[in-house]
Amino acid sequence: MNWMAQTMMWIMVSLGISIALNFLLGPYLGWLTIIPIIGVFLAMSYVIRRRQMARMGMGGQGGGFGGMLGGGGGINYVCIACGHKFKGGACPRCGSKMRRADF
Ligand SMILES: [Zn+2]
Repeated sequence: MNWMAQTMMWIMVSLGISIALNFLLGPYLGWLTIIPIIGVFLAMSYVIRRRQMARMGMGGQGGGFGGMLGGGGGINYVCIACGHKFKGGACPRCGSKMRRADF
């Protein structure tokens, strides 16, 4: 859920690898290897963040995000296509945006 925790984990992994290489290759070559490692780490954190945002619904439609987190108040909707009750922009069961308010 938390991409920050995954990013921190990748920082630790990257540092661990560079420190291990530092021991194996010596101080000069060892620290040079941190450059490609940082490149890989940045790419990984970018991919992880993209995936997290897509899962939370921020990537595509933008709707539904606040409703899923809110839980408490707000308007309930009933899906016209399948009758499922939900909060937010689109039906979580069938993905339809055809909905009516249910108070
Ligand atoms: Zn539905």
